[in-house]
Amino acid sequence: MQRSDYPESYYSASAHLLAAQPPLRGSTHSEVVVVGAGICGLTTALELRQRGYEVSLIEAKRVGWGASGRSGGQILTSYACEMEPLKAQLGDKAARHLWEMSLEAVQLVRQHIAQHQIDCDWYEGSLTAAIKPRQVNSLREWQHSLEQEYQYPHLRFYQGDEMAQVINSQRYLAIVEDKLAGHLHPLNYTLGLAKAALAAGVKIYEQSPVDRLERGARPRIHCGEASISCDHLVLCGNAYLGWLVPELARKIMPVGTYIVATEVLGEERLRALLPGYHSVADTNFVLDYFRPTGDHRLLFGGRVSYSGIQPPDLASGLRRRMLKVFPSLEDAKIEHAWGGMVDITVNRAPHFGRLGQDNIYFAQGFSGHGMALTNLAGKVMAEAIAGSSERLDVFARLKHLDFPGGPWLRTPALVLGMLYYRLRDLL
Ligand SMILES: Cc1cc2nc3c(=O)[nH]c(=O)nc-3n(C[C@H](O)[C@H](O)[C@H](O)COP(=O)(O)OP(=O)(O)OC[C@H]3O[C@@H](n4cnc5c(N)ncnc54)[C@H](O)[C@@H]3O)c2cc1C
Repeated sequence: MQRSDYPESYYSASAHLLAAQPPLRGSTHSEVVVVGAGICGLTTALELRQRGYEVSLIEAKRVGWGASGRSGGQILTSYACEMEPLKAQLGDKAARHLWEMSLEAVQLVRQHIAQHQIDCDWYEGSLTAAIKPRQVNSLREWQHSLEQEYQYPHLRFYQGDEMAQVINSQRYLAIVEDKLAGHLHPLNYTLGLAKAALAAGVKIYEQSPVDRLERGARPRIHCGEASISCDHLVLCGNAYLGWLVPELARKIMPVGTYIVATEVLGEERLRALLPGYHSVADTNFVLDYFRPTGDHRLLFGGRVSYSGIQPPDLASGLRRRMLKVFPSLEDAKIEHAWGGMVDITVNRAPHFGRLGQDNIYFAQGFSGHGMALTNLAGKVMAEAIAGSSERLDVFARLKHLDFPGGPWLRTPALVLGMLYYRLRDLL
């Protein structure tokens, strides 16, 4: 097993690597086939195996090669779109159900770490930071609505001198701490899930890109000459699935987002900046997100690319943004820089459901907020396959628009749309 099978990153350099799994060969059958070995595919496979199903998991590259192994690692409650648009579409009762499932998603991460003894540098607590006065009001309103409407007890508001208890930066005007949320090493978490799945009897095939899908009573997927049929197919390829299933591709826009990791700074230096070792995200639309690591570096993420092409000045651009938050890191070397694709939907609500006949399931559209929610997506799809689809159906009722313009023209359309939000961030 080679580290070079993964894109260069702090995560691949510090991964607890998994032995290579064989590629799919010949023509075969499995009760369930799952495509994509990120967190979503792995939790689906594990949940189904634990219910007694025979499960084969097919991965184009290596386990955790996609977003799950590159992410900022922030394990967050709620949804990328927050609760209002969900309530507007589905009403109070369903919105409450969705809120509770988002909390369950975070608890599932904690549960998986404990149950499978996953060594992934878990830390509790995350901060949401306001940069502009109008964002302070929005932050207060957001906290108020979660406390009043959803009786969520884990938030704390900080302003003025109090903020130094959790962050030492002049950039922010106010902070809300979420004590239930947290952060972890996402590739080691994903590899830990894969070890648990293998131990439970899931068959994992790596280096097996699915290039064709036959639908019908027994769907069959093809990886070049090899193929596998199944009774239930679950698509968890997300932003990396490309145009394999056009009706899914039209609902999401893959957007590049990027991270740098400093050299090891030491715990004392990092605690002077982030005393509680929280993860942090600001409330801009194109946001900065950062956190300390288990070996005491700062990981700093942000910037976006709608073309998916990595910006040429990636490390220096992100370093500039990091210094706006923590000017004292002027001398800190950047040792790693990498990026990955997030799967944005038009309304930034998650897109889960079934295709045509009831035997093909999918979950995508986590919109940059999938580290916890993918765990829940896997669980609700497994429940549906096992005969209880009530929870998947709540998600499946959410309506999603197509991105206009097809594979080529949708990028300029999105860039124009996003430009509006970037201007709002700047003003
Ligand atoms: C840089 C970055 C930072 C992020 N930060 C955060 C964060 O801090 N908090 C948060 O909540 N979310 C974050 N996200 C988003 C989060 O990582 C994703 O929502 C989540 O990991 C999606 O998991 P997944 O299993 O659905 O997809 P992925 O992890 O992308 O897995 C999909 C897998 O499917 C495979 N695949 C695709 N097509 C095929 C095919 N045809 N055949 C076979 N296999 C295929 C891919 O190779 C891939 O391994 C971030 C994402 C990125 C890229």
